Amino acid sequence: MLVGMREFDIAVVGAGAAGLSLAHRLAHSTARGLSVALLEPPDGPLRPPERTWCYWERGTGPWDPVLAARWDRLAVVDPAGRRLRSGIAPLAYKMLRSRDFEAHVHAGPAGGATRYRAAVTAIEDGAARATVRAVGADGAPVEIAARWVFDSRPPKPLPPARTTLLQHFRGWFVATEADAFDPGGAVLMDLRTPQPRSGVSFGYVLPLSERTALVEYTEFTRAVIDDAGYDAALRDYTGRVLGLGPFTVTASEQGAIPMTDARFRTRTGRRVFRIGAAGGATRPSTGYTFSGIQRQTAAVVRALERGAVPVPPVPHRRRHLAMDAILLRALDRGRVDGAAFFTRLFGRNGMRDVLDFLDGASALPRELAMGTTTPLLPMAATTAEHAWSAVRRIPPRAAGRDRPPAR
Ligand SMILES: Cc1cc2nc3c(=O)[nH]c(=O)nc-3n(C[C@H](O)[C@H](O)[C@H](O)COP(=O)(O)OP(=O)(O)OC[C@H]3O[C@@H](n4cnc5c(N)ncnc54)[C@H](O)[C@@H]3O)c2cc1C
Repeated sequence: MLVGMREFDIAVVGAGAAGLSLAHRLAHSTARGLSVALLEPPDGPLRPPERTWCYWERGTGPWDPVLAARWDRLAVVDPAGRRLRSGIAPLAYKMLRSRDFEAHVHAGPAGGATRYRAAVTAIEDGAARATVRAVGADGAPVEIAARWVFDSRPPKPLPPARTTLLQHFRGWFVATEADAFDPGGAVLMDLRTPQPRSGVSFGYVLPLSERTALVEYTEFTRAVIDDAGYDAALRDYTGRVLGLGPFTVTASEQGAIPMTDARFRTRTGRRVFRIGAAGGATRPSTGYTFSGIQRQTAAVVRALERGAVPVPPVPHRRRHLAMDAILLRALDRGRVDGAAFFTRLFGRNGMRDVLDFLDGASALPRELAMGTTTPLLPMAATTAEHAWSAVRRIPPRAAGRDRPPAR
C-alpha cells in the first residue's frame, strides 16, 4: 500500500441513483461490515442537476418513506384525444425527488460510508486491489485502494450501437389559477403533441394536486432541440392541448437519456465494475432506469453477502433487449408511426401487462400475444434489416446531455 493511500473493501464512484442505491442497500445488508468509500465530485459541471425519478413497483418499496407522490391509475391519450385510463393495482407509479432520496440515504446507515468530494480521474485495475485516483476541490490528489470498485460515471462515448435515440425532455412544475388536474392519476403518454417525422413525441403529466403538476414535453428522436423549441412545445401542450389557463412555472427540469441497443459491459477489470446507466440499467425502449438500478444493485449486494465476485447483471432480459432494438430501429427509420404504435400497444393490451413487460416481469406467452398487437409487417421488415446492419460507434455529439434548462 502506498503511503497516504486509504484502503476500503468497496469504492463507489458517483453518488447518483446507482451509487447511493448501492451504498444504501449495502448498509442494510449482512455485508454491512464492509468498509465503503463514496466518491462524488465537488460542485461544478460533473454534478448533475436535481431530478425527479418515476418508476412502478408492486406494493411497498425501500424509497416509500420519501416519495413525493404515488398514483394507482395511469392514462394514455391517443392523438384523437381518446383517454385510455387504467387502474394498475397491485402496482403503483411512484415519484421520488433526487434531493429527498439523497437526504434519506445519507441520514441512514449508509451515512457511515467515508465520503470524498473528489472528481475521479482514473481507475486502475489490480490483482488484489484496484486504485481510484481523484482530485479534490482544492486540487489535492486523492488515492483510494479497494477490493471492488463500482463506477457509475456516465460513459463517454457510448458503446457502439446499431441505433441510438435520445429520450429528451423538458418539464415545468406548474401552478394553475383554477383546478386543472386529477391528482388520482398520472398521464404516461399524451400523444396529441405534433409528431416528428420519425420517432415520437408526447406530453407527460404528473399531478401533485388539483392545481399543481409536473408537465413535460418529451421526444424519442436522434437529437435534442434548443431551449426555444422546448419552451414552444411546452406552451403548445399546456395551452392548446391541456387548456390550463393562466399558470406560473415554479421550477423546471430537463434531460436527455440515451435509448440505445448498444451492449454495456458491466465488468471492466478483475476488480472494477460499472453500475447504473453506465452499466446498462436503462431500458432502451423507454429510458426508464431507476427500477433497473434497483434490481442491479440488489444483485450486487446479494453476491457480496455470499462472498461471490459481485459482477453487476445488466438488469434486462436478452429477449427484451432484442425486442427493444427492433422498436428503436423501427421508430428511428420511420418504419412505424410512433403515436399509432403506442396507441395500439396500450389500447390492445392491459396497462399492467405493458408495465410488467417494461420491467422485465412478463412471461413469454404474454409477450408473444403483445407482439401481435404491433404492426407486424413493418416490425418484421425492421427485424430483417436490423439483423444485417452493422454496429457503429456513436459520435460524442449525439450522446446524452443533461443540464438545467436555461430559464
Ligand atoms: C432529468 C432526468 C429525469 C429522469 N427521470 C427518470 C425517471 O423518471 N425514471 C427513470 O427510471 N429514469 C429517469 N431518468 C434516467 C435515470 O434514472 C437517471 O439518469 C439516473 O440518475 C441514472 O442514475 P446513475 O446513477 O446511473 O447516474 P447519475 O444519477 O447521473 O449518477 C452519476 C454520478 O456520477 C458522478 N460523477 C460524474 N463524473 C464523476 C467523476 N469524474 N468522479 C466522481 N463522480 C462522478 C455524478 O456526479 C453523479 O452523481 C432521468 C434522467 C434525467 C436526466
